[in-house]
Amino acid sequence: MRNLHFETLAIRTQAEQTQHKEHAVPLFLTSSFTFDSAEEGAGLFSGDLEGNLYSRFSNPNTDEFVEKLKLLEGTEDGVATATGMAAVFVSLASILESGDHIVASSAIFGNSLNIVQNILPKYGITTSLVEVDDQIAWEKAIQPNTKLLFVETPSNPTLKIADLEFLGRLSKERNLIFVVDNCFATPYLQQPTRFGADLVLHSATKYIDGQGRVLGGAILGKKEYVSKAYDFIRRTGASLSPFNAWVLSKSLETLGLRMDRHCSNAVKVYEFLKSHPEVVGVTYPHGDDHPQFELAKKQMKLGGGLVGCEIKGGKERGARFLNALKIHSLTANLGDARSIATHPASTTHSKLSEEQQLAVGITPGFIRFSVGLEHWEDLIEDIGQALEKSK
Ligand SMILES: *Cc1c(COP(=O)(O)O)cnc(C)c1O
Repeated sequence: MRNLHFETLAIRTQAEQTQHKEHAVPLFLTSSFTFDSAEEGAGLFSGDLEGNLYSRFSNPNTDEFVEKLKLLEGTEDGVATATGMAAVFVSLASILESGDHIVASSAIFGNSLNIVQNILPKYGITTSLVEVDDQIAWEKAIQPNTKLLFVETPSNPTLKIADLEFLGRLSKERNLIFVVDNCFATPYLQQPTRFGADLVLHSATKYIDGQGRVLGGAILGKKEYVSKAYDFIRRTGASLSPFNAWVLSKSLETLGLRMDRHCSNAVKVYEFLKSHPEVVGVTYPHGDDHPQFELAKKQMKLGGGLVGCEIKGGKERGARFLNALKIHSLTANLGDARSIATHPASTTHSKLSEEQQLAVGITPGFIRFSVGLEHWEDLIEDIGQALEKSK
């Protein structure tokens, strides 16, 4: 059979049937597994025998989830993690040694920034931050002890694009490990290993679950790095729970379908905002006015579910706008079936001074929409009435 398509892999990759011949995969809620004999137990412990031993190490539900994601991302190996943050922390902590240096883009998820700025330095690992789209800055930031490049694309919340092919080439030339947090795009829109990424990280909490129910994450990529991450998790405990893996594996069955709708709804929201007199500027990776439109087209199948815009009236208007929304949720999440609006200046980035906010591209009236799966007409009507009411 020729290579199966994304949707087929996402639906037909399944844990082996039990003797009950169930159609849907059952939930293996068990902390441990039994051995038939002392010898089998010894073999499982030593690694001579393959099989499940304890759910911190492996479980049929987590194995199925990882197997699917490996196929969808096109990677050699993978391991599931309890959360997206565990994927970020474990991938860095398991590969890097004291004295190593990272180059990372500055517009990464807030807690990832906290890890590289405040936690890793305690273990002698330092980081230089660069603008995601400044190629010269990436090259210049590389030091003799640099071991790894870390990037998120599209970036949060301003949706700038990292040139994955450039970074893949740079990491190869300089013998660096290239790590991409692919949470915003999902493997349906972008497969970083095609451009030379060595490791791909996910917060499965976002689009992969897509319905705001569970936390989870994954590390996917080359065996040599994933096996270090697996060992680290097995010993230190950031394993994904079987229940969450079961939910997430089911969720992957509809990822393609959902991403198509997230993206087509996002295009509608983008077009509406672009034509609205109360909106000064709109950012969408596949919008033809995005400064990196060509690059986004090359790397991403569709433009994604996030749209950014600057509304007139600054910070106070931004907060008034949020309060006037009737359908959109105000919550610290993204990638959900429910549309979400956030105003970084008064929430996620409120601890930064206005100058610092501007340095990461957050203007006072910047609003980020995580466009959900409701009917697009209701979404733009909600945004329209809130723009009027918040004038
Ligand atoms: C949410 C998020 C994370 C962290 O994931 P959790 O599952 O919340 O721990 C990491 N990276 C990105 C880009 C995210 O959006």
